[in-house]
Order: sequence, then structure tokens, then C-alpha cells
Amino acid sequence: MSSLFTVTHRDGRARRGQLRLPHGVVETPVFMPVGTRAAVKGVTGEQLESLGAQIILGNTYHLHLRPGDELIARAGGLHKFMGWDRPILTDSGGYQVFSLSDRRKISEDGVVFRSHLDGSLHTLTPESAVDIQARLGSDILMMFDECPPWPATEDVIRDAVDRTVRWAQRGRDRMLVLRSGAAADVPRATPDQVQFGIIQGGTHLALRDRSVTGTLKVGFDAYAIGGLSVGEPAATMYDVVEHTAAQLPEQLPRYLMGTGTPTDLVESVARGIDMFDCVLPTRNARNGQLFTRDGVIVIKNARYAEDLAPPDAECTCYTCRHHSRAYLRHLFMANEITSATLNSLHNLHFYLDTMGAIRKAIEFGNFDSFRQDFLRRLEKA
Ligand SMILES: [Zn+2]
Repeated sequence: MSSLFTVTHRDGRARRGQLRLPHGVVETPVFMPVGTRAAVKGVTGEQLESLGAQIILGNTYHLHLRPGDELIARAGGLHKFMGWDRPILTDSGGYQVFSLSDRRKISEDGVVFRSHLDGSLHTLTPESAVDIQARLGSDILMMFDECPPWPATEDVIRDAVDRTVRWAQRGRDRMLVLRSGAAADVPRATPDQVQFGIIQGGTHLALRDRSVTGTLKVGFDAYAIGGLSVGEPAATMYDVVEHTAAQLPEQLPRYLMGTGTPTDLVESVARGIDMFDCVLPTRNARNGQLFTRDGVIVIKNARYAEDLAPPDAECTCYTCRHHSRAYLRHLFMANEITSATLNSLHNLHFYLDTMGAIRKAIEFGNFDSFRQDFLRRLEKA
């Protein structure tokens, strides 16, 4: 049995488990709020703790460019720097290099790119992505992968899969060097940090198989599914998740990267996924969209101008206990900064609360009826 992860309950393909990380135990399935630049936008660490966030994300690309991973290492690592003592997962920066940076050039060695901030020239390689994340001292570091855009031709995706497997081996080798203590020049704020491999392959099942075979052969502490939620239809994503998750080791956590809507969470847990992250709850909060059990509320709509009901009558978050739709609409229309905070508190609470309900349903062995009720009610809206 892996000491990293224990499955405590199973219900169909859904699993309830515990993930043991250097900064604490995470109850799964889990949703991880995204704190790209060492902050979950609009909310404080104290608020995140009271929401029950168990683990949050940071991003290698953004933190490397600003304020710099060496500065963060000198501050004692990302946990100390941002004042968060629960687990942190850092993304490798692969996705951001491919989606944000200008004039990137991919070679076998890695990616040379210009910063989206000031145009300065940088290089990310499978090895440097490990070193940066070691300096940050996250609990979970992700391998550096190539993320082709969607849609892409089968040839482009096959080349990206093969290169990503070669990069996986280099990133894993570098991780093992750091673990052996043979790279004393790289400070490691969290010496016990674990490394996840990433399965790519777009929506081609045969290429997913190819990626699974190559990445499992390298041998990581656990595995993630990347390259989804990039524009493909939801039904296609669920097929790829089901197909891929079934091939990943039973005794290890499975992380679906960058997904998704409340429906995506429930549907992917049903297909064996244990970990999620997504910007939707915070990004949509800033855009005035509130997730509720009965669908999404667009708070700027005139129909809420004098609606004194809370966003979601069943929600127990701070926002719903204290404020009406009318007040939240007013804050949004007046462009008050508090609008983003109150909306983010509600949306994050909704996501974390949904994960809690999923965990309970798996424990009680009634996940399938929970899933049907949850989706029926969302669809009725
Ligand atoms: Zn609420």
C-alpha cells in the first residue's frame, strides 16, 4: 500500500480517500482553489481556512517571473512567504508557457519564451521546472509537459506526447537527484515533496494509451490527466477521463487538471478522479456569476435589483448568511472591490461544500443517487 494515499471507501468507480502530504492530510475527492500568483484572488488566507480549503495551487510560470523563486526560497519557501501552512500543489508552468507567453520556441531541451510581463527572455526545461518548484517548496510538484492547443492534428499531439514522455524521464531524474541530496545548490523548503506525472494525448484514446504507457514506465509518485477542458465537448472529456483514469494505478490519487464546472466535478468523481483545480469559482465570482444548487445566477441582471433573498437559500457561507442578491447586485454595479470578495467566498464555499457532499455520499454508498439528484436539480434551472 502506498503511504501517500489510502482509499477508505469505494462506490462504483468513485473513491473516498486520504492523501498524506508534508503539510497535512487531504480528504479526497478534493477541490483545490487556484492561487496562481501566491494568492487566491479576492480572498485572504484566513477566509480560505474558514472555508475549509485543504490544499491550494500555486503556479511555477507566474512565480518564477514575479517575484522569482529564488526570492521566495530566501523567504523560507512559498508556505512561509504567503502565510499558508496547509498543503500547496504547484503547476509546472507548461500550460502557461504555451498559453500566455509571446514568441515561445520549443526544442528538445525545453521552451525559450518571452515573459508576458516585460518581454524578458526565459527558458523552462524539465529540469529547471523541478528546481523552481523545489525552491518554492510545494507539497506536490508537477512535471513539465507540452500542451498542444485544441483542436490539433493527431500528428501534432503524438509528437507532443512523445516529447512529454522524454521530458517526464528528465524531470523525474532531476527529482531523484534532488532527493538524493546531490544538488546542494537548490534549497528545498519542503524536502518530502512529491512529484506527479501528467498524461497527455488530447481526445485521441490511442494517444492517451501511449502517454499512459510511457509515463507509468518513468514512474512518478502519482499521476494527473492534463490537456482537457480546453474547448472539447463535455461528453468527449468524460469519455477521455473514464478511459484514462481506468488505466492509472488504483492505489494512487488521480488528479484531473484545470477542471471544471460543478457538473464536471460530479461526473469525473464518478469516473475515478480524486483531485481537481479550476479558476471558475473565483474568476466567475469577479464576473458576477454565482454558482448555486439551482444553476448560475448572473447578479447584474435587473431582476435581482430588489431581490432580498440570499444567492442560494440552502448555502451556509458568510455571503448567503448576511447578504441579499439585491445588495450583491448593487456592489457589482458600483464596481466595489468587496463584490469580488463576497462572490468568491460564496462560489468557493459552493465548490468545497459540493466536494464535502460527494465525500459523504461515497462514504454512505449512495453516490449514484446523489449524482442524479444534483445533476437533475442543476439542469432544471
Ligand atoms: Zn453562499
